[in-house]
Amino acid sequence: MSLPIETGLHRSYCLIERNALAHNIRLVKANLAPGAKLAAVVKSNAYGHGCRIAWRAFAEGGADWMCVDSLHEAVELIDDGCTCPIFNMGYIPPQHAREAVALGVHAIVYNQEQVMAFGAASSAATKPFRLIIKLETGTQRQGLGIKEAIDLVKTIARFPYLVFEGICSHFANIEDTTDHSYAREQLRAFNQFAETLTQNGYPVKLRSIANSAATILWPETHFELARMGITAYGMWPSGECRVSAQRIPKDLVLRPALTWKTIVAQVKDVPAGAFIGYGCSYQTTHPSRIAILPVGYFDGYHRALSNLAHVLVHGRRAPVRGRICMNMCMADVTDIENVCPGDDVVLLGAQQNEKITAEQLASWSHTINYEITTQIQANIPRIPN
Ligand SMILES: *Cc1c(COP(=O)(O)O)cnc(C)c1O
Repeated sequence: MSLPIETGLHRSYCLIERNALAHNIRLVKANLAPGAKLAAVVKSNAYGHGCRIAWRAFAEGGADWMCVDSLHEAVELIDDGCTCPIFNMGYIPPQHAREAVALGVHAIVYNQEQVMAFGAASSAATKPFRLIIKLETGTQRQGLGIKEAIDLVKTIARFPYLVFEGICSHFANIEDTTDHSYAREQLRAFNQFAETLTQNGYPVKLRSIANSAATILWPETHFELARMGITAYGMWPSGECRVSAQRIPKDLVLRPALTWKTIVAQVKDVPAGAFIGYGCSYQTTHPSRIAILPVGYFDGYHRALSNLAHVLVHGRRAPVRGRICMNMCMADVTDIENVCPGDDVVLLGAQQNEKITAEQLASWSHTINYEITTQIQANIPRIPN
């Protein structure tokens, strides 16, 4: 049996505006450095937007590549008909080499063991397999120094079906500050790596270091491939990035694409002095009307939002009262007329003239917009809009 998932019938659901996703890609693509291609990052269920909806919208908007974090995500894209190049940015265990070669992803590599496994698998399949070496430029996450990188290229060259495609790296400190000296140093190191490899007789066909912030702020980081994550979804990497971008004379109006909605499950009148929810963390000071909403921290509506967040009902803000439960939460609708079970509630997004942004939810729960949307449970329906 399958239950209908039309809007309004599910406990909660996300509406995804495909035109907004395509718009964000077009906007950034129009400002790309000559020769650069644009990769849309669709890892983590497309930052919570639903991989299947997002990749199609990005392809329509002109994205040339898709970036994923794992082969599981690559399989989802390919099964859904995606034919553009897929860049697997996360770790691929050597045990998955055969599958990686069969899928034909571009794989990040940073150890000999992986390259040996990919070498053997590509030879067995007699199928070319493209490798991108991750370089360490200051993030101290994945990546290699130049000596190890050259050793790795030499190993790649020993296998007839392995192709040394290029290099990539990732910025550590570009969106968290308006002082970009650390990022400049990373870019300098990256350029140095590219030069050294070329001088050693290993030409670098593809260079990729830009994330959203770098793509917006610095055309000189675009090289052959810019990787666009958060901005593709219409959100800024940070307030600092937005401030830095204002110095650039460009009309960058990103459009957020996700609206997270639920419905009112029950409305109840409570007397003055009543405690609401677990831990009795909120006490009414006057007779109040409380709406029960069938969404909780299991769904990704963080418990840290307890007694802090607002939801939208009839286009007005209703404060969350008491602790957010696993599958439910309560909101105060005392001052909003005629709220009834079944009424539309917006947890994230706009309703009439009001809106709750991912940035606002992030600020209430001491995190970042990235975490807000990626934490919306994958099994909550994403409905294209
Ligand atoms: C997630 C990720 C990106 C995208 O970053 P945004 O800030 O969302 O643009 C780019 N590169 C790598 C390696 C990533 O893991």
